[in-house]
Amino acid sequence: MHIHRALYHESRNPAALCFNRNLCYYISNIACDRQAPLRHPAEPRSRGVDGLELMNYVVFDLEWNQCPYGKARENRKIPFEIIEIGAVMLDADMSRLSTFHRVIRPKVYRQLHYRTKEIVNLTMEDLKNGMPFPMAVRDFLEWAGRDSVFCTWGCVDLNELQRNMNFYGLLHLLPGPFHYYDVQKLFSIAFEDGRTCRSLNYAADLLELQEDEEFHSAMADAEYTSEVFRRIPRGLLPENDSLNVFQNPKSKTEEIHTVYNRYSLYVSREFRSKEEAMNDQEVRTVYCSKCGKKAHRKIRWFAAGSQKYVCLAVCPVHGFLQGVIRMRKSETGATYVKKTVAPCQEAQAEAIRRRRDELREKRRKRRHLNEEKLSATS
Ligand SMILES: [Zn+2]
Repeated sequence: MHIHRALYHESRNPAALCFNRNLCYYISNIACDRQAPLRHPAEPRSRGVDGLELMNYVVFDLEWNQCPYGKARENRKIPFEIIEIGAVMLDADMSRLSTFHRVIRPKVYRQLHYRTKEIVNLTMEDLKNGMPFPMAVRDFLEWAGRDSVFCTWGCVDLNELQRNMNFYGLLHLLPGPFHYYDVQKLFSIAFEDGRTCRSLNYAADLLELQEDEEFHSAMADAEYTSEVFRRIPRGLLPENDSLNVFQNPKSKTEEIHTVYNRYSLYVSREFRSKEEAMNDQEVRTVYCSKCGKKAHRKIRWFAAGSQKYVCLAVCPVHGFLQGVIRMRKSETGATYVKKTVAPCQEAQAEAIRRRRDELREKRRKRRHLNEEKLSATS
């Protein structure tokens, strides 16, 4: 795969961000102009020195099994064991190039979970004839090639792929973070409201795809996903790719600062707690998503849920900006932050202020109630 290890800039030097593109795609913790540009995954028809098109789309789907004896007895390092990989490769013009299919012999869970049995079109007998995961995944990555970009229905498959690779000590074969296309998200943007998450089944019905195969075999689902992907208007792709951060930044220099047309995204290094994260200067700072300059905060970060913080800032040139921080947990249980900053209108700014006041009032009432309870018991 062509890995867009991506788009990073010296976090302390937001001025170095490239704001003239859809997306910053320079690897850097130095200065961006000293780095060779990486191709944006959505840049159509990029050509290598030999004039050949470089980029293919690898649309894939996985089926997995889980512990047949319940959660309590599962192996925490691999709660979902991949038992099938199906994939379709499309070229830059969305023409089909080839397909890939492997059935995998499970090593951790040797019986099918009843749910798996219900969904998957595979028997234990089929699986016994499969190949070991390490071999299958090496085949898969080799087949996918270095210059492809992954496309999946939702974000789960990519995480499970990496979790399984990690279990076998193979994660180095797929360095992350990287860009990919979430076809479920693209489907919603192209054909619905841009928010709702639909099933692949639903999408296939809506687009009137020919449904010859049953859903929930890796190959059939990869085929359906690729057919949905082919129907996404190409113009939507550049701004709507996704970033997989299963391999989240560990150090300051690995932190991600990336800019899309409509918003900017920051992914932090790891912290011990969300409090520690919220005390970090870089986490708290809001840079304008249009010019990259430090914005003034109008409403300080406030908790709008247990894992979510919101703030309102203003750029003297570009107006109101809404900042949203979401707390995330890494594989090892550490806390990291995903922060987005997007321009917003007056009305939205007002809504943020109202929300802040409501939450403040709620907290005040709760405190008051607790105090009353305390004085009643004493
Ligand atoms: Zn600005």
